[in-house]
Amino acid sequence: MKLYSTNNKDLRVSFQEAVFNSMPQDKGLYMPLEIPQLEQDFIDHIEHYSLPEIAYTIASTLLKDEIPAGDLKVLIEDAVNFNAPVVKLDEETFVLELFHGPSLAFKDFGARFMSRVMAYFLKDDEQLLDVLVATSGDTGGAVALGFLGVANTRVTILFPKGKVSEVQRLQLTTNGKNIRAIAVDGTFDDCQTLVKQAFADNELNAKFRLTSANSINIARLIPQTFYYFNAYAQLKRKGFKDVVFAVPSGNFGNIGAGLLAYKMGLPVHQFIAATNANDTVPRFLESGVYETKPSVQTYANAMDVGAPSNWVRIMDLFKEDRSAIQGLVKAYRFTDEQTLAGIKEIFEKFNYVACPHTAIAYLATKAYAEENPNDESAKVFLSTAHVCKFPEVFPDDILAKIELPAQVETLKNNPELFDELGKEFEGFKKYLLSK
Ligand SMILES: *Cc1c(COP(=O)(O)O)cnc(C)c1O
Repeated sequence: MKLYSTNNKDLRVSFQEAVFNSMPQDKGLYMPLEIPQLEQDFIDHIEHYSLPEIAYTIASTLLKDEIPAGDLKVLIEDAVNFNAPVVKLDEETFVLELFHGPSLAFKDFGARFMSRVMAYFLKDDEQLLDVLVATSGDTGGAVALGFLGVANTRVTILFPKGKVSEVQRLQLTTNGKNIRAIAVDGTFDDCQTLVKQAFADNELNAKFRLTSANSINIARLIPQTFYYFNAYAQLKRKGFKDVVFAVPSGNFGNIGAGLLAYKMGLPVHQFIAATNANDTVPRFLESGVYETKPSVQTYANAMDVGAPSNWVRIMDLFKEDRSAIQGLVKAYRFTDEQTLAGIKEIFEKFNYVACPHTAIAYLATKAYAEENPNDESAKVFLSTAHVCKFPEVFPDDILAKIELPAQVETLKNNPELFDELGKEFEGFKKYLLSK
């Protein structure tokens, strides 16, 4: 697999280079030169395959020249070691639960696969790989737990002090080993600025082999295609031929992976992009004008993105043809008030507790179904995180129904270890150099 940059179609880099750099120097995004089709026979019989088998088939179709079959199989079995079940709510409505991994969010798919791909390419290498990551909550946990114990790597996570939920903080601070966490006296943007400054610093780059675990990394996108195919397989087993996916979207990596899956041959009839008040993409699909805005804070804070970094990739996937995207992707946006009403509605109607991001996807599914009463396909909305990561949003009666997964109970017994820093770069640099 060779890749080009969305800013330079003549550039050619290897998969390995794209993985370690995350982003080309021209600030475009890496895209595969060719998007291979999965074999029709595989898609026709996909209901007979398990999630790891589906994941392996997709990964080997893309990466057979990069990672030999035997190694790739081992890598996949290690990375994709949890389920992504489709749960039925009513005759046509399903929720695809993507929160059964170690950090209880769908980002585990991307982070676990990426960490293992990096470790695979590092295996004959002496120099430690230093991963720097800024997080507003979910990314950090997935990256920390994805890299935990992975040989030859060290992860430094910056999170805004006091601004992540308890479960999110525990996932960042109780790991030890090759993971270190820093509480920054500032905002998520301050954390991100520190990481960017570190990447631009000559002295740090001379001393360390730095990499970002950025959400635009191609090795995070690929494994997110796995669960779309696997959901389709589950629905085929239930007798459906046609599927609609509704995706709660912030940086548009998740839905981008769905669209990549579509290009590889996944028979999907319609995608639905669901956003909160950060509605750059819905506005674009309506007006044709792509205008980013500073992000605003909402209940679904993992989707508080004013300039979705993966959108360029989606435009590139469809050769900048807005009308092609408009046909395949319907977009809806919802306010905090609607989100809360959605959480209550799902609870009352289905006795199901959904996180705010998931509730937005549910509302979009419902809006689509109302506008398209003759569409009899399975409507599947993606649940991107376990509810226990966002407890501040729920009314007390719903909060009382939330069960903490066993792995969270375990975290509470572990000591929290983290350093504290201000938001000045000099302090962060000194910290890095001293360790
Ligand atoms: C990251 C995240 C999202 C947004 O996913 P994108 O790929 O950025 O669109 C949605 N929900 C949760 C819980 C997340 O952590």
